[in-house]
Amino acid sequence: MKTELVIDLEAEKQEILKRYRALLRASKSTLQRGDKKEIRKAFDMALESHKDMRRKSGEPYIYHPIAVAQIAAEEIGLGTTSIVCALLHDVVEDTDITLEDIEREFGKKTAKIIDGLTKISGVFDTNSSLQAENFRKMLLTLADDVRVILIKLADRLHNMRTMDFMPRHKQLKIASETIYLYAPLAHRLGLYAIKSELEDLSMKYLDPDTYKFIAKKLNEKKAERALFIKKFVEPIDEIVHEQGLVADVYGRPKSIHSIWNKMKKKNIPFEEVYDLFAIRIILDSAPENEKADCWKAYSIVTDLYRPNPDRLRDWVSSPKGNGYESLHTTVMGPRGQWVEVQIRTQRMNEIAEKGFAAHWKYKESTNDNGLDQWIQKVREMLNNPEANALDFLDDFKMNLFSDEIFIFTPKGALIQLPLGATALDFAFEIHTDVGATCIGAKVNHKLVPISYKLQNGDQVEIITSNKQTPKEDWLNVVVTAKAKSKIKSSLKEEKRKIAENGKEILERKLKSLKITYNTDNLNKLSYFFKLPSTQELFVNVALGKIELKDIKEYLSSEKEIETRGPERPENLSVDGVKSKIKGSESDILLIGEDMQRIDYTLAACCNPIPGDDVFGFITVSEGIKIHRTNCPNAAQLMANYGYRVVKAKWNKQQELTFLTGLHIVGIDDVGLINNITRVISTDFKVNMRSITVDTNEGIFDGSIMIFVNDTEHLENLIKNLLKVRGVTGVTRFDA
Ligand code: MN
Repeated sequence: MKTELVIDLEAEKQEILKRYRALLRASKSTLQRGDKKEIRKAFDMALESHKDMRRKSGEPYIYHPIAVAQIAAEEIGLGTTSIVCALLHDVVEDTDITLEDIEREFGKKTAKIIDGLTKISGVFDTNSSLQAENFRKMLLTLADDVRVILIKLADRLHNMRTMDFMPRHKQLKIASETIYLYAPLAHRLGLYAIKSELEDLSMKYLDPDTYKFIAKKLNEKKAERALFIKKFVEPIDEIVHEQGLVADVYGRPKSIHSIWNKMKKKNIPFEEVYDLFAIRIILDSAPENEKADCWKAYSIVTDLYRPNPDRLRDWVSSPKGNGYESLHTTVMGPRGQWVEVQIRTQRMNEIAEKGFAAHWKYKESTNDNGLDQWIQKVREMLNNPEANALDFLDDFKMNLFSDEIFIFTPKGALIQLPLGATALDFAFEIHTDVGATCIGAKVNHKLVPISYKLQNGDQVEIITSNKQTPKEDWLNVVVTAKAKSKIKSSLKEEKRKIAENGKEILERKLKSLKITYNTDNLNKLSYFFKLPSTQELFVNVALGKIELKDIKEYLSSEKEIETRGPERPENLSVDGVKSKIKGSESDILLIGEDMQRIDYTLAACCNPIPGDDVFGFITVSEGIKIHRTNCPNAAQLMANYGYRVVKAKWNKQQELTFLTGLHIVGIDDVGLINNITRVISTDFKVNMRSITVDTNEGIFDGSIMIFVNDTEHLENLIKNLLKVRGVTGVTRFDA
């Protein structure tokens, strides 16, 4: 039997125009003068050249390019050139129209992009097992214009959305390519919404049973979940608005694919996946209030629901490599269930969903400079001959928006580091051992301290010494995650060794005092010395900070402690920051309204020393940081996070030393360096950490890192250095 296809051509024409107008509406925000005409011209050309073609579903072919253009405009945020190219993306391949025709009508740029799009479709047609390799080559030749890749993603997304009419074997092939190549690519480009949809659609074809199973399960509890979300969100919504924030608070289901991943990874049934949805708080904030508003919202949420301290993710302060900015926390919901809450502003949300293109929209300048740089970086990455094609996708770390610098090794190899990275970061990047034993570096053949901030294009040679070991303050010197974690683990190891030693000493001491060595007594001792753990107790014993007489003191007060009951040291008013009273020799800083002695670290940005005007700032993960009030970051911190600022004041009478820098200029003279170091080391008995000297045509220019007690000490030293013959200026600088 023959089935006849009856098509109402007039109705179809109306439908095509309707879809075209929807496209225009979607692109409205980016349209400039004359753009509408260009889009119309492209639409007419596509309509005419595809006029006799139909898709597998029987629909007119033109629906497809219109849909691809709409995705490009609406879901990726691309502009007119891309819309024109999307409309024409299949004409050269499938119709009589040539590239020359396109170039004549729309110009060189458009022709080049369409050429790229045409070439891509050929890549997968060969039945090659080397798809990843092909994909890499394709990106390499086509990264000329990143829009080729973005439009290709839009094309792929629409094909995936409309794959029902394809034969099964084609569905499988296309879905595999998508999950293997296109979804990771979308992820790297920061196109989260498209990435999730591509993954879900792939799963729908590759693993239909599981897909349907999870979809059904999700659907069953939909009403119950909606009610839960409503109850959870209501109080947040109320207080957020009370506090004058403009926000949209809602629940958002997780994708089927991500739920399945979790089930597989944790080996749990559907019922045990707790985060089937996340709560989103999308703030409407003025640019200057973004960060403060996010933290305000965070504070509201965690006042209502108890947060899991291990699950705070602050991508607002340091965005992900692909530009993602958001504050994530996981809190305990009213029914004892963990709920993830994502807090961000509308701008951050748009970048989270649309990625790359949205980011440029918010950039101040509209020139294509940043875009060019990005493309250049993609090329460099793709060109790396060492990357094999499969690793390539994993290494596809396009730190799109974070600023990076390129540093040369002495042999000319290129190392990529984040802006602000120091010589020490570089050392750790080369090798853990190089980092751990680093004492300095030669940058462009000039000696610099480990804290030297590298500049793009520097050539760096690391100087090591086998006597060197990682130090606590190195954590303030490095910025890369790699260096930080290596230093931390080395310090931890060191501490473990010290603690072991302390444990033995303590055991002996307790024995001599006839105190039983057991957990209970160790806990009591830790509590008495206000130490957060028994490990800290061991360390303090090993370092001689807790001596026999101190333990005796504990013995005499033990009764008192016991009658006080199980009370633990209170969270201090300066909020959950662990306090510890130290020996009198280190009572150097008093913090908070009642001037308590609390643990703190000195900020690396301004290196405060006693005598400086300072304030404390409560950081999210590193306790209290002390900044100078004239620190370059001070104004911004105090303006945006007034509520996190605490008073701090130096206590006199101590002998600790602090690292600071002196910049000395003068006329080069025989013995000048000797005279300077004599004043520093012999006259003032000040320890030097490093000296960098540059003499150029008789001008002496030196930087010395020294350890001083306080500002008075420093000022005296400066006065005396100025008396050295040849020295014309001495100024303090921060590392
Ligand atoms: Mn297509």
